[in-house]
Amino acid sequence: MKRPAGIRLTVVLDTPIAVYSGMVPGFIAGQYRADELEIDVVPLARRAGARVILSAAARVDAGASRIELDGRPPIPYDYASLDVGSTVAGLDLPGVRDNALPTRPISRCVARFDDFLSSLGPERAVRSVRLVVVGGGVGGVEIAFTLGERLRRQGVAHVETTLLHEGDRILPGAAASLARRAEERGASRGIEFRCGVRVVSAEPERVHLSDGSALPYDLLVWVTGAVGTRVIRDSDLPLEERGFVETRSTLQVVGVDNLFAVGDCATLVDFPTTPKAGVYAVRQGPFLADNLVAIASRKPLRKYRPQSDFLAILNLGDGTAIGSKWGRSFEGEWVMRLKDYIDRRFVHRFQVLDPRGAPKSEFPRMDGDGMAMLCGGCAAKVGQSVLERALGRIERAAIDPDVVLGLEGADDASAYRTPAGDVVTTSVDLFSAFTDDPYLVGRAAAVNSLSDLLATGVEPRHALAIVAVPEEMESEEAEELLFQTLTGARAALDEMRVSLLGGHTTTAAKLMVGFSVDGFAAGPESLLRIDALEPGLSLILTKPLGTGVVFFADMQGLSRGPWLQAALSSVVRSNAAALRAARAAGARALTDVTGFGLVGHLGEMLRASRVSAELDLATLPALPGALELLELGLRSTFHGENEHARRGILIPRSLASSPRVELLFDPQTSGGLLFAVHPSAVERALEDLTRGGDPSAAVIGRVLEPRADGVLLAVGS
Ligand SMILES: Cc1cc2nc3c(=O)[nH]c(=O)nc-3n(C[C@H](O)[C@H](O)[C@H](O)COP(=O)(O)OP(=O)(O)OC[C@H]3O[C@@H](n4cnc5c(N)ncnc54)[C@H](O)[C@@H]3O)c2cc1C
Repeated sequence: MKRPAGIRLTVVLDTPIAVYSGMVPGFIAGQYRADELEIDVVPLARRAGARVILSAAARVDAGASRIELDGRPPIPYDYASLDVGSTVAGLDLPGVRDNALPTRPISRCVARFDDFLSSLGPERAVRSVRLVVVGGGVGGVEIAFTLGERLRRQGVAHVETTLLHEGDRILPGAAASLARRAEERGASRGIEFRCGVRVVSAEPERVHLSDGSALPYDLLVWVTGAVGTRVIRDSDLPLEERGFVETRSTLQVVGVDNLFAVGDCATLVDFPTTPKAGVYAVRQGPFLADNLVAIASRKPLRKYRPQSDFLAILNLGDGTAIGSKWGRSFEGEWVMRLKDYIDRRFVHRFQVLDPRGAPKSEFPRMDGDGMAMLCGGCAAKVGQSVLERALGRIERAAIDPDVVLGLEGADDASAYRTPAGDVVTTSVDLFSAFTDDPYLVGRAAAVNSLSDLLATGVEPRHALAIVAVPEEMESEEAEELLFQTLTGARAALDEMRVSLLGGHTTTAAKLMVGFSVDGFAAGPESLLRIDALEPGLSLILTKPLGTGVVFFADMQGLSRGPWLQAALSSVVRSNAAALRAARAAGARALTDVTGFGLVGHLGEMLRASRVSAELDLATLPALPGALELLELGLRSTFHGENEHARRGILIPRSLASSPRVELLFDPQTSGGLLFAVHPSAVERALEDLTRGGDPSAAVIGRVLEPRADGVLLAVGS
């Protein structure tokens, strides 16, 4: 958070949530809710002014100084640090990957554990459950205790737990007295510790052991020792035998000065037996931060030396814990209270938002440009009324008989007839960056531009790009930005087999990306228009609403990471499959929902078709977090402009303060399609949409006769 000017920081994340492992056994025991052990890295990174790339690192190319990602261009760096953790050993044994529940990655383990509990269903009061835990280290022992406790508390009548351990005593490396306490407490809870045996293979309901015996199980938990993850093993780096990268005491990778590695994924060559424990990862943090700044500023680096011992506390799941420090061990409720205090205090320091998404008081709001920042994407456009007024002042041009869709209509795309009689449909769209990942901005901009054409029912064929790079950018940086942006755009264009023919670049205050696209229509009558709504038709919206408020919140560090992730995957999803579904269902009128929000675009359709409509607010699909953020009072910068449409809407008093009403005005970046079909075609349309990748698609209302009072839209529910 505190670094000299001129250092740009990028965080590459496979998943936005980091789970604090120290509290996982407590979660398993039912002592903590999942959100209590989650650190949402995105709002934290925003507070550090860091760019966030939500895409797993696949490999590090240390020679070329770049992080390679799957399915998108690599991220170049001057200095990088790896902190990708570890995985569990032995998953390659026959049948283990398919049948065991590994504790790493922890976030997946937490979700799968929840699935297991639900799978027990209502019968659990009479069932007996056989648990087999593989691995007798700290994690395995804690899980054997806490999982048994949880199952008993959930009503499972009989829990039989066996812990299998390859070594000759559980808790290797810990004080012998701690292991004795664990064994005594385990014996009183019916946990059998079997040491000196290895699992050789696993089947769906039994494991085979090295002594020739087999053990039946209902849940097989895999908590064996840590080994390196694929990203480390697939990189050309110096590795020790477990697959961890070798580092020096400055935390630099051996032989690679501009690459650091910390936590579980690294082994210090001077202290190779340092346990793979969070305690060490956490202590390395400040050294890493100092050294990254120092190396970039050409200053000497600090040397890290691991502590020789640490306070180990094992949660036994019944409100007590056992612990050890300096070779002495202890137990009781007070030990658990101490662990709870330490863990909660630690994790709390990194939890910027509460589960509702509200910022905690300890984290001041981001100052300065966050609030003042104008939204990008389709939320950065001139208001509908401003545009209409300006267009109204322009003198009408002479009628061109070849124009099929022109300025007179309210459609986003235009169409004209060629001398040969073909109908060419064209459209242009441009928006400024709505997030700081240029690849995604380019991709979303292309998807968004193609949607304009899809909204007329036409498959786009060609595109021209226009890109403005920030004025102050140096040439090398500008080149990388253009490369990332256009690669993202190409991914979207290639997906739809659209040829990029050329384009134009310029400079602007911030990154702007747009495309002019064209395609051929079978004939003027085949075009889907916005003025073809008829009373009685059902209105379907294909993508959930809320990108405006989510991106606005993210600029200020107020969006939860999973919310941002959902919004990003929505804006890069093409509307091509949705158009096919709409066509197959006999869609009459169709438009794409972008910057003017649902109400702006629906209003245009209603006015052009001279009808009215009623909407059922309860059915409006919303992106995760959108309603929560609207409820908190957040509004995208363009929201107010869209609210001018309120005049034509009838909103019952009981719904006036509902965040669902606000959703109507939220400007959408690369939003979904809105179309009308006969009620008998609704079921098929929704099935096709779900199959095509739009599972949130929903019927949101129906078209009515025009109203005598002039109201365009009535909302209810
Ligand atoms: C059940 C259990 C209980 C534990 N309890 C304790 C305890 O009480 N005390 C203790 O000291 N230690 C404990 N540990 C060990 C502790 O979890 C680890 O030592 C610690 O998490 C290591 O921290 P880290 O930052 O290196 O890795 P992690 O905490 O694993 O963090 C790695 C991060 O990198 C991300 N990542 C992974 N791959 C990629 C990729 N390819 N691209 C981008 N991002 C990626 C992951 O999502 C994750 O957020 C426990 C472990 C387990 C399994």
